[in-house]
Amino acid sequence: MTENVSADVYLDNNATGAVAHECLMAMLGAMGPHIGNPSSKHAAGMRAKRLLEEARAQVAGLISARPQEIVFTSSGTEAAHMAILGTLAAHPDRRHIVTSTVEHPSTMRLLRHLEGSGVRVSYAPVDGEGRLAAHAITARLAADTALVTVMWANNETGVLFPIAEIAEIAQASGVALHVDAVQAVGRIPVDLAQIPISLLSLSGHKLHAPPGVGALFLRKGLKIAPLLWGHQERAWRGGTENLPAIVALGSACALIQQDLDLQARRVGGLRDDLERGIRECFPAARIHGAGAPRLPNTSNVGFGTLDGEHIMEALDRRGVAVSQGAACAAGGMEPSHVLTAMGLERRAALGAIRFSFGRYNTKACVQRVLALLPGILAEVAARGVRGTLEGCEGV
Ligand code: PLP
Repeated sequence: MTENVSADVYLDNNATGAVAHECLMAMLGAMGPHIGNPSSKHAAGMRAKRLLEEARAQVAGLISARPQEIVFTSSGTEAAHMAILGTLAAHPDRRHIVTSTVEHPSTMRLLRHLEGSGVRVSYAPVDGEGRLAAHAITARLAADTALVTVMWANNETGVLFPIAEIAEIAQASGVALHVDAVQAVGRIPVDLAQIPISLLSLSGHKLHAPPGVGALFLRKGLKIAPLLWGHQERAWRGGTENLPAIVALGSACALIQQDLDLQARRVGGLRDDLERGIRECFPAARIHGAGAPRLPNTSNVGFGTLDGEHIMEALDRRGVAVSQGAACAAGGMEPSHVLTAMGLERRAALGAIRFSFGRYNTKACVQRVLALLPGILAEVAARGVRGTLEGCEGV
């Protein structure tokens, strides 16, 4: 990654978002000698406890849960680990999990690890648009299924899974459902009073709170084992609470709750403008998942056979931060498992760029990208390292 210019157009909000001023202020208010450990019984401890419980109510409010159903964790990853490992530990007679082929690595790698210790995992496929059919989950349920774990919104394409339908199926089958809602919460309405989800994980840094804080929704009455033992969080999760980050998460949820619909429409408009502009300049550009219900903020674009790494670097040199649908691996870049599961061949998957919008993006961001792209694509094609302009005849 180059360091010539700081990113003045930041379109990588699915990776992490800027910390909102409101969250920063809330965090500062949770630091200092007047704030103690929430478990302490003196005044400073009680003040901390009040802040902790206020944040819990704010997080619960955004997803229509009860405050007692929210357990704070260190991340979305920890929340998902607690849901999966905690469910398995509570049901030693059930050794089977159903999931999809496009889960985030934080789930995928844990499941692969568990397969090595005797847990069976069934992977439901997605179609060419990244859609998961609810019946693909039903078809994989077994007598000893402990858990269905699926994401609500895909981090790479923004494609939404039919969570309400899957939740009804899981409930009717008596199987717990964990939803990785890290990309969904704050971007689409999530109403746990209406949808019978058992466990749901979310993460602060996708919501304009800082990284290092997340939460697990644990439906009242559900039995799972803790991952970290201790007395905090009503013994669900040991370890002294990261109060400044938790308070920031609460404040982010309160902020989002005020204008979720408005922001979704605004950000969706920016995303649509970007896609329209890209299609006008490069008719052969392919928007991955465009035929499926999607998050309003995410656009995953294939630029023919041009190399995504070079496009990303060229944008970065001009101050535009985006991400690539690929991961560094020993021996070079590996194409995204999400795009390959959608049937893209290696070269097309390596060409994909993800643009992800957030609260602080404006029309000017879209205009800048659209002004830069023709030159960048021509430059990348001319380098001809891996790509050609084939399929991008508008350049
Ligand atoms: N799940 C999804 C869909 C994600 O996009 C991410 C982060 O990118 C995570 C889980 C992990 O969240 P965290 O970074 O808080 O561990």
